[in-house]
Amino acid sequence: MENKNILVQDMRDKFIKFYAENDKAINLKAMPGHFATSSSHVNYYIDITNLKCRAKEAREVAKSMQSLLLHHVTTVDTIVCMDGTNVVGAYLAEELERGHFSNNNKHETVYVVEPEVNSIGQLMFRQSIRMAIEGKNVLVLLATSTTGETLRKSLECIEYYGGNIVGITAIFGTMNKIDKYDVFPVFTPNDLPGYETYAPSECPYCKKNIPITGIVNGYGMSLL
Ligand SMILES: [Zn+2]
Repeated sequence: MENKNILVQDMRDKFIKFYAENDKAINLKAMPGHFATSSSHVNYYIDITNLKCRAKEAREVAKSMQSLLLHHVTTVDTIVCMDGTNVVGAYLAEELERGHFSNNNKHETVYVVEPEVNSIGQLMFRQSIRMAIEGKNVLVLLATSTTGETLRKSLECIEYYGGNIVGITAIFGTMNKIDKYDVFPVFTPNDLPGYETYAPSECPYCKKNIPITGIVNGYGMSLL
């Protein structure tokens, strides 16, 4: 037990805080190291748990997203929340309803839905929530978007269900565009000086035989 506590404290000490360029109310915690994502290696693990799960921070993230989307996206009927971003999604829906956005839904309120995701990253919407996708203007909300592969697959699936994608927003993202869609990330690599992402075959840490610190996905990190 004592060893475990030392390990937890040790991990906390390794995190560095970064602030978004346009919003000093929220910060990202990142741990330097050598991490493997599904398709790349990165030199920071970005922990956004607090931003996703704590009401105060999630509300701030939603406000930031609302101002990023303003003047770019006009109509949002549905927010599709990926990677456990539902809390942010609910606050974002409130922000959009309050702000200068419209929706075409019967009851003038935004749908906030979460898809099922299978082992190869395909999305599924059960019958009960399909009506929130088909023919709707869909905003996709992500925790992080660092490589386009998973995101591209998600976008394709939303289109299979007849959704019209109007934009993509993320808590942290390295891209401003994927295919024909605009991406609006709250935090970008500019907010994390020194952040690098590598193709696994070209990773300088691997070339120096530095072991992987942990494996990262949309839900968090697992130390090796
Ligand atoms: Zn590597």
